[in-house]
Amino acid sequence: MKKQVLVTGGAGFIGSHLCESLLNRNYKVLCVDNLFTGRIENIQYLMSRPDFKFVNHDVIQPLDMETHEIYNLASPASPVHYQIDPVLTWKTNTIGSMNVLELARRKNAKIFQASTSEVYGDPDIHPQPEEYRGNVNPIGVRACYDEGKRSAETLFFDYHRMYNTQIKVVRIFNTYGPRMVPEDGRVISNFIIEALRNRPLKVYGDGSQTRSFCFVDDMVRAFIKMMESPAHITGPINLGNPHEMSIYQLAEMIIDMSNSRSAIEFKKLPEDDPKKRKPDIKKARELLNWEPEVEIKTGLIKTINYFDEMLKAMGKVTGSLSKVFLVNNPF
Ligand code: NAD
Ligand code: UDP
Repeated sequence: MKKQVLVTGGAGFIGSHLCESLLNRNYKVLCVDNLFTGRIENIQYLMSRPDFKFVNHDVIQPLDMETHEIYNLASPASPVHYQIDPVLTWKTNTIGSMNVLELARRKNAKIFQASTSEVYGDPDIHPQPEEYRGNVNPIGVRACYDEGKRSAETLFFDYHRMYNTQIKVVRIFNTYGPRMVPEDGRVISNFIIEALRNRPLKVYGDGSQTRSFCFVDDMVRAFIKMMESPAHITGPINLGNPHEMSIYQLAEMIIDMSNSRSAIEFKKLPEDDPKKRKPDIKKARELLNWEPEVEIKTGLIKTINYFDEMLKAMGKVTGSLSKVFLVNNPF
């Protein structure tokens, strides 16, 4: 009998890639999403597969369905999206996580949590190992997400200790690739879209802040390895690509790779923007036998091609990215 897997947030960027990989591995996939930032277009091509089912549901409401394994990805993920309604973001990550954990407990299902490098806040240890407890501003504009995800980790470990729920917690560092939401404000999508339109790339601050970017295929491969790992491996485990670069370097690379005439402009640095971020992935290497394989330039080519095709298709429809995007997304 095929295993039934539930993916919350399955219509989003990473979730849609995960659903596809799971179907290819012969799982039955139930995708639960309220389409807050996700899009039906992301999963349209899966709808005709008999083992795929989509349910429009908000995880803030309790769930009841048969499942053997749960991947909990439901949450807006970019600063622009999670700050639209910070209370909703916090509820999704706390009440939502508890509802999904309750389902796991009732069905005796294994449950995976998509936590984040944001639990480390603006880190004063570099690179960040899992033992680092973080430097989060609990009352800042990023706190709805950072503290929401930290609370979710607490709930996961309390369910594990109290009810013996099998948990798998990973901390995801910046991930990119095709199907990123074009206007979610994340740096790679923003830069590529501006570069393809020959418009200025807006670097926040002086661009010396760093990030380490992981291609989505590498990330999804790690998710499945984590889920399939022995029961004693609960996490948290960092997942990301340790190749660190400054945001200014990234801007230059994207302009060059898209043959763009764009200039670089400097804008104000957002509040609580972490100065550096790079995962220590020793645990992922040792416990999951995983490390990223896709180099930044290879991943960027695929992502640039994706946005290039999207912009051309949208140009044919209305000539405006925003207008088309607004049809599917309320922001
Ligand atoms: P995304 O916004 O594309 O996907 C999130 C999905 O969750 C969307 O489809 C959205 O509609 C859905 N969702 C939001 N609130 C919901 C709710 N209340 N009920 C049901 N569905 C809901 O973002 P993503 O980049 O694919 O991120 C997926 C997960 O990975 C998130 O939990 C995010 O916090 C985590 N993560 C992502 C990154 C990254 O760089 N992309 C980094 C760290 C952590
Ligand atoms: N950033 C930027 N220009 C943009 C979007 C983002 O300079 O158009 C910067 C942002 O200030 C941050 C980094 O790029 O320092 C990564 O931002 P993103 O929102 O992608 O992810 P996060 O801050 O959550 O790591």
